Parts: sequence; structure tokens; C-alpha cells
Amino acid sequence: FAPWDDPEATPLISCQDVTKRYGEFTAIERLTLDIFPREFFALLGPSGCGKTTLMRMLGGFEDVSGGRITIDGQDMAGIPPNKRAVNMMFQSYALFPHLTVWDNLAFGLKRSDMAKDQIGDRVEAMLKLVQLQKFAKRKPHQLSGGQKQRVALARALAKGPKLLLLDEPLGALDKKLRQQTQFELMDIQEKTGTTFVIVTHDQEEAMTVASRIAVMDEGRIVQVDTPGRIYEAPNSVYVADFIGDVNVIRGRVSALNGESAELNWGEGKRPIRATAGAGAVHDASGAFVIRPEKVTIATEEPTDRHNRVKGVVEDIAYLGNLSTFHVRLESGDLISAQLANSRRFANRGITWEDPVWLSWSDTAGLVLGD
Ligand code: ATP
Repeated sequence: FAPWDDPEATPLISCQDVTKRYGEFTAIERLTLDIFPREFFALLGPSGCGKTTLMRMLGGFEDVSGGRITIDGQDMAGIPPNKRAVNMMFQSYALFPHLTVWDNLAFGLKRSDMAKDQIGDRVEAMLKLVQLQKFAKRKPHQLSGGQKQRVALARALAKGPKLLLLDEPLGALDKKLRQQTQFELMDIQEKTGTTFVIVTHDQEEAMTVASRIAVMDEGRIVQVDTPGRIYEAPNSVYVADFIGDVNVIRGRVSALNGESAELNWGEGKRPIRATAGAGAVHDASGAFVIRPEKVTIATEEPTDRHNRVKGVVEDIAYLGNLSTFHVRLESGDLISAQLANSRRFANRGITWEDPVWLSWSDTAGLVLGD
């Protein structure tokens, strides 16, 4: 499933040069993006970057100030929310407190042109989809947070929208329930074949559920890619830093040969060898980025590796399955190395203040333009 790689595939949503201004302030700036049918698409970025604004424009709750949005080939200019094949589920769920679960689900259907005898079947099907058949007669205050979330989801899907917009749908749930619900959400999305666009603050959540992620910054999309590529091949220090933990060392790109690059990061230091990433230009400033789990820590010098550097252990976070070591280099840089623990060998016998060697392979990190 990778319609974005298929030049013949027709997008469900197409944003072309979409701009949104509030007075003098530009919340979204010339944003161009295609989202394909059946995608589970995540918008990710820091607070205020424009995620909700973009969603609200897709839903028709907000006009665009410039550019064009088409959904299913139709220009959305001037089309109100109720005339779009789109529904939006809000974080607050917005259930009717005085109506039962059953009536909450039937409410929108009764106001549509659906035949009366079909409404019951549809409600039953929705209850089954979210596994709440037993709760049909309850009112919202008699439900747990997770159950309310499922009612809201069922209600949002009841009319069979082509596109469902979810603004922080799991924000009110605690971490464990949230993780469990992420899988339910993926399952429901797959069963209904609806295209989902989700806004989340939680990068792990985006990585878990999404077919693709758009990382946003100040009203622009910085990178759109699959979770794997966002993590393994970020196109900037910003994206690398936003998704997961990363070590960053800044310097100058001292060599660039096809797929490999070197970064000079100071007098007398061995240049770092890495994979050439986006924006790396020979003799320009660059940044080396590497995930903590790709850095190896050892007490002996690993002379077989080009990339090796000495330091002192400043902190250790023992997390059970793994440990994270913070190592201060002689240059002053602080580097994290994350290692899996075995039952017999927690922290690899390394402790605070120990002198250690950090090393990594020539393809473990990226040199990016900076
Ligand atoms: P959060 O993660 O905090 O919800 P977000 O990425 O969803 O943030 P938006 O709500 O889309 O951000 O807001 C983007 C920018 O537009 C913010 O700087 C916000 O202050 C501004 N903004 C949003 N709505 C309005 C409005 N009605 N009038 C003026 N400025 C607005």
C-alpha cells in the first residue's frame, strides 16, 4: 500500500498552494499536499504550527485565504462542512449527555436522508464495529473515557464519510489505554476503508498509526514520508530532532562522494564518516545526526571502527529492557548511547564516571545540510 509512489494514483485530498491568514498573521503558508484514499495520515508538529488550522480548512470550518483544496476531485471553495463527504471528531467527543449511546449514534442519521428502517441496522453495525453492543442503553456519564471515545468514533463514522478528521482523538486517555486504542483505531480504519487524517502531539502515536506523516513547522510542511523514512532519513535536523531522540554534532562537510559524506567537527578530530543526507553540500556547514541506539559503548578502544571517540559516562538511565548512557566527550559534546540489556548484564558493567569509547559504523548516521 503505497499510492504516493504511484504517479497514476488519484488523491482523495489535494491541497495546492493553500494559505491561511488571520489578519497580518500567516498560519498556513503555500502548503501543497496530496492524501490518498485509505491513508491514515498524521499531522505532527509543535504547538501553533498550524495542524488544527489545516484540519479545519479540510472540514470546511475555516475558509482558505489562498490556493485550492479539492476533495474527491471537487473544488471545496464555498462548500460548507455538511455538504462535504467529511466528518470531524473532536477531542472533547461532544456526545449528547441526555441521549443513550444508541440515540447518540442514530441522531445524525435521523437528520440525513437515510430510510428509517435502515437507521437501526446502521446503528447496530456501528456498535459492533466499536464493540459496544452491550452499552447501547447507557448514557455518556455511565461510560469510561475509552468507551466514550469509541462512541464518538462510531458516531463520526455512522454516515460513512470518505474522510474522517481526528483532532487529538486519544488525548484524554491515559498512556496504556491510549496505546491499546491506537491499534483499535487502525483496525477500524482498515475495516471501514475510510481515509483518516489525525492531528497529534505524540510522535510515537503518529509512528504507530500512520501510513504517512507530515511534519510541520510554522505553517509549512517540512517533510512528508512514511514513519520509517521520517525516522531513518529525516531531511533536516528539525525533523530528526522532532521524531525520537537524536544526537547532533555540527561542523563542515569536508567530503561528499555519492552516498557517503564526512563532517569536520573541529581541529585535530577525526572527521565523522556517515551517509550523505538531504542538503549536504561540500565545504558548507552541516550536521551529523545519529540515533542513540546506533551508538555503541565500550571500555576498550574499538580500533576496527573509523568513527570512535573517547568520553566519560555522566549519567545512566536504566529502563529495564535498555539503558541510556550520557557520555561527555573531550570536546564538551554530550552524546547518548542506548543499549539493550540482558538479564545477566545490565548496563554492560559500565558505571558513572567510567572512561569509555563510543563508536558507530560509517552508515549509522547522516550528514545533513544545516
Ligand atoms: P496546537 O497543537 O497547540 O493545537 P496547532 O498546530 O493546531 O497547535 P493552530 O491551532 O492551527 O495550531 O494555530 C496555528 C496558528 O494560528 C497559531 O499561532 C494560532 O495562534 C493562530 N490562530 C489560530 N486560529 C486563529 C484565529 N482565529 N485568529 C488568529 N490567529 C489564529
